[in-house]
Amino acid sequence: MTANEDRDYNLVEGAFQDLLNSIEYKTEEADNQLITRAFQLAKDAHKGVHRKSGEPYITHPIAVAQIVATEIGLGPSSIATALMHDVVEDSDYTLEDIENMFNPNIARLIDGLTKISGVVSMESSMQLENYRKMLLTISDDVRVILIKLADRLHNMRTMQGMPAHKQLKIASETLFIYAPLAHRLGLFRIKTELEDISLKYTEPEMFEDLSNKMEELVNRDFEYLNKFTRTISGELKKAGLKFEVKKRTKSIFSIRRKMRNQQVTFDEVYDKYAIRIILDSKLANEKSDCWKAYSVVTENYSPNPNRLRDWISSPKSNGYESLHSTVMGPEGHWVEVQIRTKRMDDIAENGFAAHWKYKEDSSGSNQLDSWLRRIREFLDNPDNDSEDFIDSFKMNLFSSEIFVFTPRGEMVTLPKGATALDFAFDVHSEVGAHCLGTKVNGKLVPLSSPLKSGDQIEVLTSMKQEPKEDWLSFVKTGKAKQRIRQSLKKEKQLITGQGQMTLERKLKVLKLKSTHSNIQKLVNYFGLKNPDELFYKVGLGVIDNKKLREYARETAGLVNYFKRRIVKSSYAKQKPLSNEAKKDLMLVFGTDEHEMEYTLAKCCNPIPGDRVFGFVTTAEGLKVHRDDCPNAVLLQSRFANRTLKAKWIDKKGTFATINLLIEGMDRMGLVNDVTKVISSELSLNIKAISFAVDDGLFTGQVTIEVADKVALTDTITNIKQLEGISTVSRVGKFD
Ligand code: MN
Repeated sequence: MTANEDRDYNLVEGAFQDLLNSIEYKTEEADNQLITRAFQLAKDAHKGVHRKSGEPYITHPIAVAQIVATEIGLGPSSIATALMHDVVEDSDYTLEDIENMFNPNIARLIDGLTKISGVVSMESSMQLENYRKMLLTISDDVRVILIKLADRLHNMRTMQGMPAHKQLKIASETLFIYAPLAHRLGLFRIKTELEDISLKYTEPEMFEDLSNKMEELVNRDFEYLNKFTRTISGELKKAGLKFEVKKRTKSIFSIRRKMRNQQVTFDEVYDKYAIRIILDSKLANEKSDCWKAYSVVTENYSPNPNRLRDWISSPKSNGYESLHSTVMGPEGHWVEVQIRTKRMDDIAENGFAAHWKYKEDSSGSNQLDSWLRRIREFLDNPDNDSEDFIDSFKMNLFSSEIFVFTPRGEMVTLPKGATALDFAFDVHSEVGAHCLGTKVNGKLVPLSSPLKSGDQIEVLTSMKQEPKEDWLSFVKTGKAKQRIRQSLKKEKQLITGQGQMTLERKLKVLKLKSTHSNIQKLVNYFGLKNPDELFYKVGLGVIDNKKLREYARETAGLVNYFKRRIVKSSYAKQKPLSNEAKKDLMLVFGTDEHEMEYTLAKCCNPIPGDRVFGFVTTAEGLKVHRDDCPNAVLLQSRFANRTLKAKWIDKKGTFATINLLIEGMDRMGLVNDVTKVISSELSLNIKAISFAVDDGLFTGQVTIEVADKVALTDTITNIKQLEGISTVSRVGKFD
């Protein structure tokens, strides 16, 4: 043997001997043999393998077995299982080998552990509900979970040498899965240790800082607490109680959590330490002794009635029993006092199993069995305090992200605020693109619903469904946005191309030529921006045969066309303005409504109140034409970049502010159509505009400034005429 081998041998045999010694009091010869055989097999299986730290691998299973034996308090089968927990996963030994050499029970436990380690990882972890079921179906024995916790605890205790990214991953996983599980199983001490170690790796500086502060604080208050305990002890003794008083500090992790959740500083976290009175009490007298102690404490120090917690009358679901009170100590400091019996303390710190390690009689093991059964029932029942269970999984660490689940329990990580539709796109871009609806936790919800951690989402798809423009207004993830834009663009191009061909065919039927200028006339006639938009609308069927025939009829002569425009114009219906009113009107230009120097065009002679536009000429500056000027079509189409929006406004600036509530069924392009109607009305100022679509129901809230009643009536009529709009109403204000 080399010196190294020699050292390793001593290390391993020594650790195993320590294990045997620590359980000597509760094991028999047969148990020792079982455990020793498990050790031999594991030693053989992991022979020659070393941990990152350089120690022989077998030291890990021994340490896990030690935790299982003394910190959780499980029996010989569990200890043997812990020793062999990595054998099937990491060596050539099979489950059958184990079953042949040991027994089916141990083989089943090891099978469970091997399967769990495949399931529980951040990449593939299941929906919690499913995760719990999974744990049960894998194991049907809670010991599997307990041994797994011991395994994780030891790995956490010994991950110093690992690369930082692995430390971070393991720590996050621990906070997300294992610490809450330990908490749920009542293994408070293990839970606290898991959390504190995790914090040490996820926020090393914070951990260091808080540990130092905590140490300082305990040193500073040492005398104070002693004084307090001395007084209390004296009084309790006088009352004839047998007890022990301990000082207990809050864990670094829970201080950190409180600071973050309540947005407070270290100094503002209360109850950083507590005085714990542990009573030596007969089972029958437990409750009365606890309340007796409570009254002794509160006779000497006044309690804060808001901070009394009685988990003696109704224990927590994980078995926690204790009486908590916060009292005003000497010199005006609040001190938390926890009162419980030895039995309660043991259960609170180490879980039920540990408590029964002292008990060798059959009632003890029956009790253990019944506890394990209770836990099993708890895990099995999805209604059971499920909210609480899920809550504890919402770790601060992930505050910018949410974790949601597919119907099969696969976990999906999304940014906070992500919607059901984002989820669909995350699953697959085609699933998103054809997403028809979504069910969250079994309930049908709008695609725009923001998701919460723990939600389980089912996506309903239809091949007929295509991405909609308004989807862009609520999706959060870049992936979804990009895919929707792509699809809209592609679809638009496709429809535009088809539309162009359709239009050419239809124009031929109407005996019109598809020349550039004819197309441009159509663009103007329909109030569109460019030929592509025209083709697109034709492709969509929004501009159909009927509309094209109307156009053909009206453009039989341009004159007719202008007649129609004049009739349609709201100002045409308006009575001519009085000279008085005209004096009050001034002309402004552009979206920002600037005053500019201008001259009125001779060709159409605009008068105040007419619908007009500005045209920038090279020789004569800004000229103002009427919208229905015979030159207008030419100017607006050929020199669009030289035309300026123009509008007559009241010099006194007397605009009325109007709120419009628009409701209807959503359809493709509706928002766009509504916006267009409103913005094309020149005597309106849009102050605020917002649209919402919920389950296909469209709601628009529009605040406008209106110069005159006619413009308003026209606008309302025009919006009402849009396909899909059911009501347009004036409201006092929006709620
Ligand atoms: Mn392991």
